[in-house]
Amino acid sequence: MAEPAARMQHQRDFALTIDGQFVAGDETLDVIDPATEEVFAIAPAAGREHLEQAVAAARRALRAWRALSFEERAELIRQYSVLLRERKHELGELLTREQGKPIGQSVAEFERGTAQADGMAGIEIPVEVLLEDDNRRIELHYRPLGVVGIITPWNAPAALALGSLSAALYTGNTVVLKPSPYTPLTTLRMGELAQQVFPPGVVNVLAAGNDLGQWMTEHPDIDKISFTGSVATGKKVLATASETLKRVTLELGGNDPAIVLDDADPQAIARSLFFACFVNSGQVCMAVKRIYAHESVYEELCSALVDEANAARVGNGLDPDTKLGPLQNRMQYEKVSEILEETKNNGATVLTGGEIPDRPGYFIPPTLVTDVDDDSRIVSEEQFGPVVPILKFTDPEDALRRANDTRYGLSGSVWTSDPARGKALAERMEVGTAWVNQHRAVSAYVPFGGAKQSGLGRQYSIIGLKGYMEPKVVSVAKQ
Ligand code: NAD
Repeated sequence: MAEPAARMQHQRDFALTIDGQFVAGDETLDVIDPATEEVFAIAPAAGREHLEQAVAAARRALRAWRALSFEERAELIRQYSVLLRERKHELGELLTREQGKPIGQSVAEFERGTAQADGMAGIEIPVEVLLEDDNRRIELHYRPLGVVGIITPWNAPAALALGSLSAALYTGNTVVLKPSPYTPLTTLRMGELAQQVFPPGVVNVLAAGNDLGQWMTEHPDIDKISFTGSVATGKKVLATASETLKRVTLELGGNDPAIVLDDADPQAIARSLFFACFVNSGQVCMAVKRIYAHESVYEELCSALVDEANAARVGNGLDPDTKLGPLQNRMQYEKVSEILEETKNNGATVLTGGEIPDRPGYFIPPTLVTDVDDDSRIVSEEQFGPVVPILKFTDPEDALRRANDTRYGLSGSVWTSDPARGKALAERMEVGTAWVNQHRAVSAYVPFGGAKQSGLGRQYSIIGLKGYMEPKVVSVAKQ
């Protein structure tokens, strides 16, 4: 059904934000509602000249911004959080329309994102005294890096922008922020709202295609790139950034394993484990993407997860009863559909789901498969969608070896009724975060990021914040 003209949002409804001004683009981006496949909004797209203006504005704003104290900058970040929370329903609806996730989760993305921003803006970054004796005092200071380019993906545009933005700003940097061309609107709106709080030039937001990301990564006046996205693009960012020796934080893809031990209670863990796999229709970097279940709990776990899948309503995210929305874009929908077809053709057993409905929208029902090989695509690749394999094991050592047998290393979890036993196994997972009896638990105070090819550096916590700063030694000889 065609979108009524009155509800179509035009380029004039959204703007690029450069130096505190709202600016039209050279070109436009069609924004598609993934639940209907209709273009429902037209966003402005920036050209190279806009990037030049934004970087110049960010550099001009830097001197005054870095001169503020941590506490002064924290106060403005908290004011911005209040503004976003006041508008979380309006912003959440916009996020659902462009991204597809259920409306409750869109609103929660603002609650979570602002809570993390506020948390980080409360972390003290003291001058460290490295050595003091009769002859000298050596201190370690942390200085802002300068202009930070932030590049975000389409799966959680608001929370991921807020995480990088608040870290960069709190530590005294100014910012040029670029969302994914699939989901530009919420971030453009966040850029407009930021002007109510931050001085001109401190937060600049530009939307455009992938070229803009490449231009940012090449730009000699951008000092750091904070990138969240796929492993393939992350490698390009790292290669391009090396030309100017930019600092980089790379938050990349994952293929998280969950190991369910023989003493786990399948009924008790099924709901948590189901949503760890399928929240946002599996489009979460740290979603569980493969389950290893001990043979003694395997049948019961499969059936408990199937019950969860059958109870989870799939539909338009604007419907408050929806638990799982569509895939965000056609490319991802086709990729997951192709992996599903290949999995079925290779003889997998489909426990539930597996049939793609003939309806508008990028919908794939929650699908659980078994009888798949470790080297099949559904096990070895990041599917980033609602199709999850369950694999059987006998020996936990074998499960751990298979869980670790990947180039990815974002996170993983162990599920057991014996937390100490779970912890012992979790400690041997080759990941940035290993959880026991939980998954996806993140906090402003805890570093998050990938081992192996899942990333470089960390976000959040004092470790993440230091990634936005240059350590500087001040060494004073005593008379
Ligand atoms: P993507 O790599 O295709 O795009 C991410 C961003 O990079 C977009 O803004 C895009 O326009 C931009 N971009 C594209 N080409 C570029 C280039 N050559 N130089 C600079 N920027 C460029 O990723 P996606 O498909 O949007 O997002 C999904 C991926 O993101 C998944 O792999 C997921 O696991 C990962 N992700 C990781 C985390 C994390 O914290 N580790 C969080 C969310 C998503």
